[in-house]
Amino acid sequence: MTQQIGHIVIVGAGQAAANAAAELRRTGHAGPIAIVGEEPHAPYERPQLSKDMLRPGCAGARCMRETEAYARDGIDLHLGVRVRHVDAARREVQLDDGRRLPYGHLLIATGVRPRPLPPALHASPRVRYLRSIGDAEALRADLDAGHPLAIVGGGVIGLEVAAAARARGVAVTLVEAGERLMQRGVDPLVSRFLDRTHRARGVDIRYGLQAEALEDDGTLRLSDGSRVPAARVLVGIGVLPNVEPFAHLGIADAAGIRVDAFGRTAVPGIHAIGDIASQPVGGRHGRIETWANAQDQAITVARNLVAEPVPYAAPTWFWSDQGQTNLQVVGDATTGRTVVRGDADGDAFSVFRLDDAGRVTGCATVNAPKDMALARRWVRQRQQVEPQRLADPAIPLRDCAA
Ligand code: FAD
Ligand code: NDP
Repeated sequence: MTQQIGHIVIVGAGQAAANAAAELRRTGHAGPIAIVGEEPHAPYERPQLSKDMLRPGCAGARCMRETEAYARDGIDLHLGVRVRHVDAARREVQLDDGRRLPYGHLLIATGVRPRPLPPALHASPRVRYLRSIGDAEALRADLDAGHPLAIVGGGVIGLEVAAAARARGVAVTLVEAGERLMQRGVDPLVSRFLDRTHRARGVDIRYGLQAEALEDDGTLRLSDGSRVPAARVLVGIGVLPNVEPFAHLGIADAAGIRVDAFGRTAVPGIHAIGDIASQPVGGRHGRIETWANAQDQAITVARNLVAEPVPYAAPTWFWSDQGQTNLQVVGDATTGRTVVRGDADGDAFSVFRLDDAGRVTGCATVNAPKDMALARRWVRQRQQVEPQRLADPAIPLRDCAA
């Protein structure tokens, strides 16, 4: 049964916000909905920023829905304005332009922002980040101009941009502080594959180093004193949660806005969705910074406002396209027993992770999307498998379940 719950204000106009608002209307919420976002654009999906938008001749960014569609659904979009404060006692949000919006329920969907380099580097006009349409347009102009690029950070942003830049013939040096690529999210075998393929495309990869200073000769000085070409520097060293307007409410933890599996914070009437939500995941609380979470968790939480609440419990899943490489990861792909299916020195393989009982807890696929379709189901069901059969690519995957 649908409950009527009054005004809903969603802070942040990104992917999670758009999905939540649409779901509220789909489930029959008839009351007012407002979305407040500091960017000038209607909600858009960010994966295009490091992929399609960096290709030559890209026609520009796509929004999730045109602005008129929100008006048709009776959703008020307040764009180009920031929420600066929330008064939970009066149930009211305060905007930078002085306006105040009352709410019955508040959905926090403010996402994250790039972690900056230290101030001396951050301030340089040669330094780029990649989070918004404007960022992607600036970076594309750099690639069009062929500026040699130093990339700081060997995570998803660094690697997707490295592949896009090399595809356009731009010289790329990638500086990673750790010992391997994507080290928090994938198995060492996958990092080794990524190292091999990015080097084969011509990326100069340096490990265990930090960016120290931008030199006037167009180079970037690294922590070992070496210098690398850096007419432009693209930074992808992780993110910081946009919690400031809510910090006084006592609902933030180190990762973001702390919620339970239903999306509820400790303050009645306030929920958090998408990247900003620090949610129960694998026995702890943490952010899930993925497109799938910004869709499915947001939809679940929106539905929970108007219908019988259900917990959000989908395993974490994301993909990353890096040139010709399609990488997909589900669940915890870094701990437990490793079973490799296929040739990790070749072009396509999968790395499964099993717990002590032989149940699938995580998987990373490299150019093996068909394996991922079943792996996602197995992780969700904690399917027990037969490791020897799993390791034999001649045996169909579906015949490897125990
Ligand atoms: P966001 O999309 O970040 O939206 C939050 C919005 O809130 C922003 O517009 C922000 O400006 C606004 N905001 C913040 N503070 C305030 C305030 N005080 N007042 C008003 N507005 C505010 N995931 C994948 O699974 N696969 C991919 O291939 C992939 N590619 C990506 C590529 C890039 C370059 C990036 C940056 C991300 C990518 N992701 C990918 C991650 C995915 O895009 C995010 O998980 C998703 O955007 C999160 O959605 P969100 O709505 O929570 O946050
Ligand atoms: P990541 O956390 O994926 O990667 C950052 C990398 O930079 C890590 O390897 C990190 O190492 C390293 N690092 C940290 N500090 C330094 C430093 N000072 N010098 C050099 N290396 C450093 O973050 P990204 O910035 O790549 O991505 C940011 C956001 O964009 C995330 O929310 C992500 O989900 C999203 N995104 C997702 C994509 C996808 O899913 N396909 C694609 C692009 C973006 P260590 O781990 O040791 O800290």
